[in-house]
Formats: sequence, structure tokens, C-alpha cells
Amino acid sequence: MGKLYIILISFIPLFSLAQGFVPRCNFDSLYSNRMQSLDYRQLLIEEEKAFQIYTQEKQALKNSSYTIPVVVHIIKNESHENWVDMDITDADVYRQIEILNESYNLLNQDVSQTPEEFEEFIGNAQIEFCLATVDPNGYATNGINRYSTDVTSFSTVLDNIKRSEDGGADAWDTDSYLNIWVGRITTGVLGYSDNPTANIPDDEHGFVVGYPYFGESGHESYGMGKTAVHEIGHYLNLKHPWGIGNCDAANDWVNDTPISESAYYGNPVHPVMSCETGDMFMNYMDYVNDSSMVMFSQGQVDRMHYALDIFRPTLQESNGCGVPYLVTQPEFTHASSESASDGAIHLDIAYGQAPFTIICEDTVSQTIVDSVVLSSYGNYIIVNLSDADYLVEIIDALGQTTSLDFSISYYGSVFDSDNFESYTEDSLLFTQSNEWISFCKDSFAANISSNLPLEGLQYLEINAADGLNSFIRDLDIDVNAYDLSFKMYVPFGRSASYTIYHDATCFSSSAAYNIQFNVDGQGYINAAGQNTPFDFPQNTWFTVNQLIDMDRDIVEFSIADQVIHIWDFSSTTGSVNGTSVLDALVFNDKVDSMTQVHYFIDDFKMILSENSNLGYEDISKALDVILYPNPTRDEIYLKFNDASYGNIQVKVFNLHGQVLEFIELNDKSSDDLRLSLSHYDQGIYFVSIQKDSYFKTLKFIIQH
Ligand SMILES: [Zn+2]
Repeated sequence: MGKLYIILISFIPLFSLAQGFVPRCNFDSLYSNRMQSLDYRQLLIEEEKAFQIYTQEKQALKNSSYTIPVVVHIIKNESHENWVDMDITDADVYRQIEILNESYNLLNQDVSQTPEEFEEFIGNAQIEFCLATVDPNGYATNGINRYSTDVTSFSTVLDNIKRSEDGGADAWDTDSYLNIWVGRITTGVLGYSDNPTANIPDDEHGFVVGYPYFGESGHESYGMGKTAVHEIGHYLNLKHPWGIGNCDAANDWVNDTPISESAYYGNPVHPVMSCETGDMFMNYMDYVNDSSMVMFSQGQVDRMHYALDIFRPTLQESNGCGVPYLVTQPEFTHASSESASDGAIHLDIAYGQAPFTIICEDTVSQTIVDSVVLSSYGNYIIVNLSDADYLVEIIDALGQTTSLDFSISYYGSVFDSDNFESYTEDSLLFTQSNEWISFCKDSFAANISSNLPLEGLQYLEINAADGLNSFIRDLDIDVNAYDLSFKMYVPFGRSASYTIYHDATCFSSSAAYNIQFNVDGQGYINAAGQNTPFDFPQNTWFTVNQLIDMDRDIVEFSIADQVIHIWDFSSTTGSVNGTSVLDALVFNDKVDSMTQVHYFIDDFKMILSENSNLGYEDISKALDVILYPNPTRDEIYLKFNDASYGNIQVKVFNLHGQVLEFIELNDKSSDDLRLSLSHYDQGIYFVSIQKDSYFKTLKFIIQH
């Protein structure tokens, strides 16, 4: 049987290309391959049982409608000859969305082409598509993202259009948006997409359309925007009407689409027969020309609703087409000293409808500290804020509201600093200071120099000629938050490296993290068991800065005021005597055996903030959690990549949406969370994890 399918599938494109027709998508090969697996066929049977129960339960709720927020990523190579005819305007995108809304709400005029024989089966999907108004960060967007690329054309096999690192565009959270990618694709298909139960990575859900077939493009056969209509069918779990071909009785798992043998192309004339029945070639899920595909069946509509309720439920909770923040990212000014009241928040009102009412409340003393009405868009600064927690509410003329929670903290006292001006030139530093010491061995390590002064006359030169020495600055910090910064100069052909240690003695050291500046101008943050790369400027002074929050165990690392990486460092090293004391900053003598160090340091400074809110508002924005193993036999683990999670709710549910397990964790330890599932039947399940207003739903499969 399997062999027969392969032969059949491979003949369709050859035949059709000879006729000048193109297969609409690559779903056939993906689906046929999967159908050769017994497990997958079993999965579809399980899915079918669940669907039957769902439809019985759903009777009372029939005719519910759905809204799907859409983001369109348009990727173009501006310089390559292959792309010269690609010109997709915003108006083309709006027209494509209109076409989707017509097709999915039975508002398309051409539905009248449906032969009388099939009229009773026409279904109205009642699915509304809206271009996103709110981006994943909560700010306003038009839902259209344009990118330029160097790629000459994208591959359906590599799926590289969905990754920025491969010249494409990264998805917006696929739980909240339907992602559409438009660009030039190589393989001979119009577009591609897959079912929600296919094993697709989270960030690759959505579909791709070749640009000649997007919107009302004027293409002779495929210029009416129906490729997107078809691909969304797959995205909502529909198969092609011929299934795996060969008059297979299961075909597309939909009862009211007649069994058919294979795809139709061009503009067939009804009736055409296969498998002893007249075929519904005018269905959106066939391969006919755009002008000939005009309808979904009610059976297909039921399947799509099931897919939306069970496989893609989070789309209905998305704020993708909701109200954006009325302000752009606000900026804070901390209080300048402990008892000062000169903190401020800068608001830029950019969206919504004037006038805007702004109310600021001190949530500690519960007093209104500012209240104003702005008659138009613009900047507003709330000033004279002291060390406290605040809530600002901005309400526009339509009643749309943005709330901002923030703290103003005392931030600015210098805890420790050294500009190296007080030492004797051309002498070893450790002989002149009790705070700076040579590590393990009292010999040449770091020298006071004045060849390349930055500010003042002198700086520190790290030049471990014997390759054995590192150079330590005592830190001894275990509470509060610190802004630790210094200036660095790494000459061409040289490298640099430093490490922050929890515990630093000659014989036992434990690193909290290590930063490397390699000879090629590329740097790495080695922290939390992974390397995060960054670029740094060579042969010039630049600032390295790290906000180290000892109370919340968070580090934010910046180069030249650009934030490179934020991470949690409490769980990455063995705790020292039960606490995470930062013992020392060590300028290392070598990056590796190949490269000699020879770099310069100046203006070492640590600023103390007793209040630890140093601006980490965004760190828990997305729940960073993964599930393994999947598929599984009898247990799953949830790995939380952020130890700052406190109160977490975990829910396991089945295809019917029935909750099977509910776990509330008040104090999650750093261990991965294990769920025992040995008492469950095999099949598809979901686990949803919620923390405050952030949540994530993950699918998993049990195979005994
Ligand atoms: Zn298809």
C-alpha cells in the first residue's frame, strides 16, 4: 500500500506541470509520509473519536463565531533579479484579508457557482480574520511587517522563511497570532501549511504563500487570493478531499465531501466523477484555479471549529486585535539619593483618541500624586516622585485604558570606584592596593599605565606575560542591587576575559558567569550553561555594564548601553554556604591557549541601589517553559528556564477540553516539574501553564 501511495503522489506534480498547473501546496507529501506511520494513523483515529464526542456536546453551541488575529510578514530581496516583480502594497494585504473574510463567512459572490447537487452541503465557517492592532509587546501595529533579505529564494523543505537567522522573519507568538509569510519560494507549489497535530515547532505554525499568489495579484490562474484560503484550511486541520488518494475511504475524514481519487486542476466542468461519485472539485481544499474554488462544506466547517476549540484555543484569548498600550515604552528616572523625591516617569501618548486622562497613584500610601487631562497626543512627565510603588492609568475618550505599574527607587550612590589615578605609574597595582590583588601568585599581572589615557592620565593594563596570573577585585556583595561598570579597551589581535565568582580562592572557585572578548571582535556571555554571543568594538574604549540584582538573582548585561542579555544566575552554580555571595571580579589572563591577553581597564565603578527594582519589568513577559519527552510513555517533565517564577498553575486536559489534572504550585523549586501520566490512555493531551496573566499551552502525545 505504502509504495502505491508514493507512486501516485509523485505522478501528480509531473502531470500537472506538463499542463501548466501548479500543485497548490506541499501538504500531500507531508500527509502521505505521516500516514505510513501506524502511530500517526492511530492518532487520527483517536482524534476522530474525540471529534465525534465534541460534535455531540457542541450541538447547543452551534453557530459560535471566531476571530483570528493575523500578522503578515513580507520578506523581499531588494537587489536580486528573481524578485523584481514582487510588489505587495498594504492595500494588497487588506484585500487578501477581505478575501479571507468573504470566503470564511459565505460572503463570496462566486459561491453561486456551486452545482445544485452540492448546495445543501455549503458551510459558513463564521471565522473573522483581523490584521493585528497590538504587537506581542502590547504596542500598536498595523499587522504588516516588512523585511529585506539576502536570500535568493526560500525553501519549503528548510522552512527558512520563518527564521530571521536564515534570512526570513521570526514568528510572532503563534499561540496569539496566525502568522502569514509572503516571499519567493523555490519548490513548485503556491504555498504551504500543515495541520495542528503535525509535529511542528511552536514558532513555525502558520503558513507561507509565494508572492505571485498573494492577494488579488493578477496571476492568470491563481490571482484571486484563494491560496491563503486553502492554506488556512490546513492550518485548521483540513486535509485535501482525496486524502492519500486511491479512493481511500478515510480520505479527508469529512463525511459530506465525496470520496475522490486525486486533485483537480484548471477549471473543470461539473459533473466529473471518480470513485463512483461526482466530485466536489469546487471546494477550497482542491487544486483547481482560484476562479473555480468557491466553498467549504459544513463537515469541513465543523472540523475547523473543532481545531479552533481544541488545538488552537489560545487564539480566542489573544489581545492581537485588541487595544494597544496608549503609550510607547515609558522611561523612568530613579530618585537621586535615599530621601530624594526627584524620580519621574516620562510618558509618550501615541495611540487612542484624545482627550487623555492621566491619573497617578502612590499605591503604598494610596494617595493620588498627579491627575491631568491632555487635549492631544504628546509627552507628559510625572515628576517629584519619591521612593515608592506607583500605578498610572491613562484613559482615552473611548474609555480605552492602559495601566502601568512601576516603582521608583533610590538609585545612584557610589558604593565603590577606582579610576587608577591615585597609584604610581608603571608599577604593579597589587603592591599598592589592598582591594586589588594578584590571584594565586604574587608576580607580574597588572600594571598602572598611561600610554592610552581615557579620562585622566592612568589606566590599568592587564598583560599576563607568563600566562599564569589573573587579577582580582574583591566584591563581597550578597544583598541589594548593583550597577557594576567599567571601561575596556581590547586592541586588534588581542583578547580579553573576566569572570564573576561566587567563591574565589586559589584551589576552589565557582563562577557565576564569564565574559569573553575574542580576537575576532565577537564576545560571549558564558552564563546559565549557555553562550550568548555579542559584538564589541575593537581598538577603542567602550563601556561594559552589568546590573546585578542580588535580591532577585538577575543579571542584565550591556555593552555600550545596549542590553545584550538578561538571565537568572542563582541556579547556575552551586550555592556557596547556602547563599549566593558574589565574592570577586577576576580579570583573567587568557581567553584560550591560542590568544594572549593584553587589554586595558579604566573607570571601575559600582553603584548601589537598596531597592532592587532596577528596571527588570520585562523579564517574565513570556513564560519560558519546555516539555519533555514528547511523545512519552508515562511521564512528562516541565522545565522552567526562569527561576523567578513563584505561583504557577498547571492544568492537563484532553482533546475534549476536559481538565484531568490541576496543580497549583506556590513555591516552585528549581527542579523540573514531573507529572506522572501512567494512568492515562494513549492519545493527544495538552498542558497549560499559567503565571499571573502569562500562560503557555503545550501539546504532548502519550504512546504506551
Ligand atoms: Zn493543500
